[in-house]
Amino acid sequence: MTRERRRPARVVLLGHPIAHSRSPLFQNAALRAARLPLQYGTLDVPPEALPAVLRELKAEGAAGNVTIPHKEAVAEACDRLTPIAARVGAVNTFWVEDGVLWGDNTDVAGFDAAVVALGTARKDAKVLCFGAGGAAAAVCGAVEHWPGASVRLRSRSRERAERLAARFPEVARVAPSGTEAFAGATLLVNATPVGLRDDVMPCAIAEIPRDADVMDLVYRAGDTPWVRAARGAGHRAMGGREMLLQQGALAFERWFGIAPDLHVMRQALEGAE
Ligand code: NAP
Repeated sequence: MTRERRRPARVVLLGHPIAHSRSPLFQNAALRAARLPLQYGTLDVPPEALPAVLRELKAEGAAGNVTIPHKEAVAEACDRLTPIAARVGAVNTFWVEDGVLWGDNTDVAGFDAAVVALGTARKDAKVLCFGAGGAAAAVCGAVEHWPGASVRLRSRSRERAERLAARFPEVARVAPSGTEAFAGATLLVNATPVGLRDDVMPCAIAEIPRDADVMDLVYRAGDTPWVRAARGAGHRAMGGREMLLQQGALAFERWFGIAPDLHVMRQALEGAE
């Protein structure tokens, strides 16, 4: 994307709650490495305060990231969206350009890069995705670009899974119930918060098809029990750290027009574990 870049006046993460976020760790490391005199801060914004905060950030020429629960509301509020943010209906990265508030979704490319890092074949992939929220939408947005690939959505709320599948009719279906959902799956993805603060797993390890890979979008120091157990059973398995770093690196590029030092970002995140 070519655009005239003016350095953002400030860089912030919007969410509610926000204290748990690891993004300041690696974004500030990237800012220091790039010798940019800015501090990546967090703004805990309750939903009712979001419109006013966005107006203020736009007037200031700020840039930043968006996390739970604001990704969809920010997509609604932006003046312009990149095609992928419009497709997914959620924004995790914003900036101001010539007075216009832009929104992008780097979770999609972040997920894509993590799948590549895991070594999973994207062509003809059969994805079984747990969850039907914003992260699952990013998974659908990525799978849509993989030749011959498809995704089945398993969610505790069938209605939400149906709504998401209807937005990606070429590739997404609601998963059949029971063990049938697992048949032929080549990649299982956890796009729910299960395992973030508990030891619950999205599915039993015995249910995972023998040759399937496992990707947990939940980021947790030392990995989630699901990832550890899947690895122990011989599956290729990865936690949410890689996607977190990749989406963050792509956001940095949108704000400053330069690629950050991914190695420095990775060290900052791993050093805090
Ligand atoms: P979201 O929009 O709130 O959606 C959450 C989904 O998980 C919904 O389908 C929800 O179902 C389901 N869910 C919630 N609690 C559950 C439970 N106890 N058991 C079963 N299903 C449950 O959240 P999101 O933005 O998609 O994020 C989901 C997870 O992905 C979060 O943990 C987030 O941190 C992670 N994530 C990681 C990255 C990364 O870079 N690594 C990026 C984005 C998201 P209902 O509709 O029934 O509530």
